[in-house]
Amino acid sequence: MQPDRRGARRDALLALLDGDHLDGLIVAHLPNVRYLTGFTGTAGLAVVLRQGTIFVSDFRYQTQAEAEAGDVARIEIAPTDLWARLWQVLGEYAGLGVLGFEAHAVSVKEAERFEGDQARVRLRPVAELVERLRVHKDPEEVDAIRQAARLALDAYRATVCRIRAGQREIDVAVMLERELRQLGSEWHPFPTIVASGPRSALPHARTSTREIAVGDWLVLDFGAQVDGYCADITRTVVVGRAADERQRTIYELVQEAQQHARTQVRAGMTGREADALARTVIEARGFGDAFGHSLGHGLGLEVHEAPRVGRANDEPLPENAVVTIEPGVYVPGWGGVRIEDDVRLDSDGAELLSDGVTDLRELT
Ligand code: ZN
Ligand code: ZN
Repeated sequence: MQPDRRGARRDALLALLDGDHLDGLIVAHLPNVRYLTGFTGTAGLAVVLRQGTIFVSDFRYQTQAEAEAGDVARIEIAPTDLWARLWQVLGEYAGLGVLGFEAHAVSVKEAERFEGDQARVRLRPVAELVERLRVHKDPEEVDAIRQAARLALDAYRATVCRIRAGQREIDVAVMLERELRQLGSEWHPFPTIVASGPRSALPHARTSTREIAVGDWLVLDFGAQVDGYCADITRTVVVGRAADERQRTIYELVQEAQQHARTQVRAGMTGREADALARTVIEARGFGDAFGHSLGHGLGLEVHEAPRVGRANDEPLPENAVVTIEPGVYVPGWGGVRIEDDVRLDSDGAELLSDGVTDLRELT
């Protein structure tokens, strides 16, 4: 039996609300709703008040909401509009002062309706409060990410030996996604990226119908999801023949930068300092301009979440955050190499959650 963390999460959120002089928080971002209540559906609003938690969903989710969240929240089913039902229910609670709402999860249109719909409660937009809790992963959350990473790499190994020149990028993506699903990934946390040849130089390439040629770089960036938690992995291989000298040089540079960063990164470093672990290695070899993105990002119920592991983040990386370490070198017109693994941060180091097996594969 896994421990039930929802009570502790609610208490921690109430402590944050106290600090902000809020009497409650309207939670509209679904990963936050799931984190606090356990509800895994796609329509719902939660309100965390000192008096208790209220969860509003629609009739499709009546049974599921009771089963998943009924033990920690008062379940309300909205006949039509979730917000209308929410204001109605809040009317039963006397003495509510200021409630926060998640500004990043409420549309401007919804927010404009707030004033007309209800006058009793004062509302204040707040930024990413629940996300501040989610950044510190519980052991079960880390386990789920570790399982997702293992599954993703099993699927990768089953796929990579079947890749040949002449296949299209989309054919490879289909093979990989099929393996991911068959091995038990709940869903693809993001569309699988398979980028070949010159297209591998696009850090955010979308899988195309391009035919893979002999000697091409092939970047595979893929994820898996277990219990809602995401892994995010990238491997880069050469198709059809051994790597040429330039390919080998650039690959080994990215590999060295990635290995250095994932073994040296730790909680307490700023995002900028962590990013520099890889960037200084790449810059020293004259490829600084070719590493145009951040070193990594947080992972959890979402595939991109806090903390940011990049030059723009001067905050210390939190203990038990799970982040990706994914440096790359991209040469327009020629190709690119990215290597990505997932780690848990701790004050005296990083625990590798994926396999870290990054030696160059030449699919001859
Ligand atoms: Zn990725
Ligand atoms: Zn990533």
